[in-house]
Amino acid sequence: MKREKAIIIGSGRLGSYIASELSVKGHEVVIIDKDGDAFRKLNDQYSGYRYIGDAVDSEVLEQAGIEDADILIATTNNDNTNIFVSHIASMIYFVDKVYLRLGDIEKSTLIENTSIHAIYPFKLSMDEFNRNFGGGNNENSNQ
Ligand code: AMP
Repeated sequence: MKREKAIIIGSGRLGSYIASELSVKGHEVVIIDKDGDAFRKLNDQYSGYRYIGDAVDSEVLEQAGIEDADILIATTNNDNTNIFVSHIASMIYFVDKVYLRLGDIEKSTLIENTSIHAIYPFKLSMDEFNRNFGGGNNENSNQ
């Protein structure tokens, strides 16, 4: 397995989980959050770096090493922040693999025709619900 350098934006439940998993798998991980308390959610085996700062600031991204990152995953609770940081990572710093968390499926138009991949927690929850309870008529289920 190639050891990749990953930057995770936001140490909430999703970001801290992803950062911990990538770190345990042997990748070089830097996690950025504007609130230092958020790093408490990282698991005990996390061996990457923690960086306190606002990820919309390109100086923060550079200090975290975005210039030679292979992966960036934007998981803050703000879709606009995630979209902005993902575009910067992809188009300015040419990060190879860029993923973002999107709450509002309609905002996916803002990443159309880019190589940015979206993770939709709401859609994943709906899909899981429909799998378990045999639903699927909900208009969101096909999005
Ligand atoms: P959650 O509320 O569990 O989804 O966590 C989202 C995390 O993203 C929180 O820990 C926030 O502090 C963090 N966050 C939100 N906006 C930013 C930002 N601009 N830069 C860095 N971290 C952020």
